[in-house]
Amino acid sequence: MSKVLVIAEHDGNSLNLSTAKTVSCAAAIGGEVHVMVIGHEVDTVAAQAAALDGVSKVLATSGAHLENPMAANWADEVVALAGDYSHVLAPSTTFGRDLLPRVAALMGVNQVSDIMEVMGPSSFKRPVYAGNAIIDVAAPDGSKVVGTVRTASWKAAGGGGSAEIEGIDASGQGHDHTRFVGMEVEGGERPDLQSAARVVSGGRALASEEQFQLIYDFADRIGAGVGGTRAAVDAGYCPNDMQVGQTGKIIAPDLYMAFGISGAIQHLTGIKDAGTIVAVNKDPEAPIFEVADIGLVGDLFKAIPEMEKLLD
Ligand SMILES: Cc1cc2nc3c(=O)[nH]c(=O)nc-3n(C[C@H](O)[C@H](O)[C@H](O)COP(=O)(O)OP(=O)(O)OC[C@H]3O[C@@H](n4cnc5c(N)ncnc54)[C@H](O)[C@@H]3O)c2cc1C
Repeated sequence: MSKVLVIAEHDGNSLNLSTAKTVSCAAAIGGEVHVMVIGHEVDTVAAQAAALDGVSKVLATSGAHLENPMAANWADEVVALAGDYSHVLAPSTTFGRDLLPRVAALMGVNQVSDIMEVMGPSSFKRPVYAGNAIIDVAAPDGSKVVGTVRTASWKAAGGGGSAEIEGIDASGQGHDHTRFVGMEVEGGERPDLQSAARVVSGGRALASEEQFQLIYDFADRIGAGVGGTRAAVDAGYCPNDMQVGQTGKIIAPDLYMAFGISGAIQHLTGIKDAGTIVAVNKDPEAPIFEVADIGLVGDLFKAIPEMEKLLD
């Protein structure tokens, strides 16, 4: 029978929604689902993980050197517990993409990336070619599966559970070759791009970092996260961690609003699972209109102030 260990993504206080989505994938594999919460003094987060439906146990590993999610230190703790499990899963977010390859390497197995569907305990569907094709992948029989989960493909597990919480002593002391220097969190109170229910994005049409402020202001009016295209990022209009798409973040908000974005395939890959897509573009032939549920042909510099007036 499968026994799945999900590595929780959190900020020390709150569990990231990506963890609840990864738990849903774990439940689809079947068998027991445990969640490992690593950090320093993680009681609050462990309690949140214990409340997730389908989780039978939470393993809370605490240590001062584990306070920040440094893959070098966290991977040692995962590997120390992984022996008892058939599967080790983490979300395919920046966090999981950093941690799990190291775990897989230490365990001597190949990682299965971006699991979007479970076909059997060792076989999965995952996207390739910017989401234009889906392939079936299988881990060798009897081999442990170390996999990242494409969160946009999974609904979050509910919150009716009451799993047992077990405290675990950290197995390592941390590494000297990697030190935590600091963390800069972009966006302040703004919802996290990868878990926001609403996202407002801007493209090259914004034309400057100063004018990109229009996107931030509009997003704040409607409580949305903010994204951008690679063109906007490369031109320095918005930071790199806001890039949505094939080489950026894959997101699945209920509402995605695209301003001055052409709709290149590499960008659309990142929003394939969005609920309602709204596009504003002055070119009626822009490919974004082929995927938009609501489209407005017009100048974004006029459209945004008009939309804001309607919100007053
Ligand atoms: C390997 C690879 C990976 C890539 N990964 C990504 C990725 O992860 N994410 C990503 O986004 N791109 C990615 N790209 C780049 C992608 O191909 C496009 O170049 C990029 O998405 C275009 O960004 P854009 O829509 O902002 O710019 P453009 O394509 O230049 O589009 C700007 C749009 O704004 C419209 N416009 C102009 N002025 C106004 C106005 N005043 N009001 C309204 N509309 C206006 C124009 O009509 C146009 O449609 C990748 C490319 C490659 C080759």
